Formats: sequence, structure tokens, C-alpha cells
Amino acid sequence: MKNNLYSTNERPYLSSKKHKGAVVCPKCGLVFLDGKWKKAEKPDEYKEILCPACKRIRDGYFGGILNLKSSLLKTKKDEILNLIKNKEESAQVSNPLRRIGKIEEKSDTEMIVYTTFEHLATSIGKALKRAYKGDLIIQYRENEKAARIYWEK
Ligand SMILES: [Zn+2]
Repeated sequence: MKNNLYSTNERPYLSSKKHKGAVVCPKCGLVFLDGKWKKAEKPDEYKEILCPACKRIRDGYFGGILNLKSSLLKTKKDEILNLIKNKEESAQVSNPLRRIGKIEEKSDTEMIVYTTFEHLATSIGKALKRAYKGDLIIQYRENEKAARIYWEK
């Protein structure tokens, strides 16, 4: 199940359409090359099409929803936010479509991180558990659009 996450949720939103000629995302500047969206030099001539990550963020259609509940958010919020950003940066190396769409602060002890695909939310959850212990629950139901990850400490 866990190994299958990429194929069940991430793939449908990766554009598999064959674009004729060069395509650039007008929002984030990624270039669609050899069947993949990547960070690359813009070609001289191109069509503009929103990449799947920007599309998801625009539509509020997130693949991963990570719920953080901890009193550590009161004392170590900056440190935790840094860890989240670092995970986003390293996820983008292998796939630049893996991004944080938004972060909602529900209270001083609760935060929700929305990611374009579930992989990033899952890896942030695991990193939080590694760094601060606590409990991590990863839920992915076949008929739901998003993986839900809960970290509590
Ligand atoms: Zn984009």
C-alpha cells in the first residue's frame, strides 16, 4: 500500500498529454521536457500551460493534508517551519511538482500543511516524528483524493 502511493494518487494529475512543442508554466516557470515538468531554461518559443502543481494549488485540490498538533508549535514554531521548508526543498529535487500549497494555523498548537501530492506530506510527517518523536498516522483511502497524515506530540 505504502509503496503504491505514487501510482495511486500522484500519477492521475501528472500531465500525460503529449504537448506539441515546448510548454512552460506561466506561474512557476517549470518547463515540460521529455514527458516531465522540470526546472530548466525556457526555450525561445513555447506555449503556456499551468503545471499540475500550480493547477492543484489554484483548485485547492491537494494530494496530502498534514495535521500537526503539538504544544511544540508554541515554543519551536520557527524550527518546525524550517524543517517543513527543508523537506519541500529536498522533495523538489526529485520532483519539482511536490510543493506546499498552503499552511493554515488553526491555533497556537495546531497547524495544517497542504501539499500538492501526498509524498511530501508523508515525508514531512516522518521527519517530524524523527526529530521530535510523537505519534504519526498516515491514512490513504482508495476513494479519497488526499492522503491524511496526523502528527501529534
Ligand atoms: Zn507551475
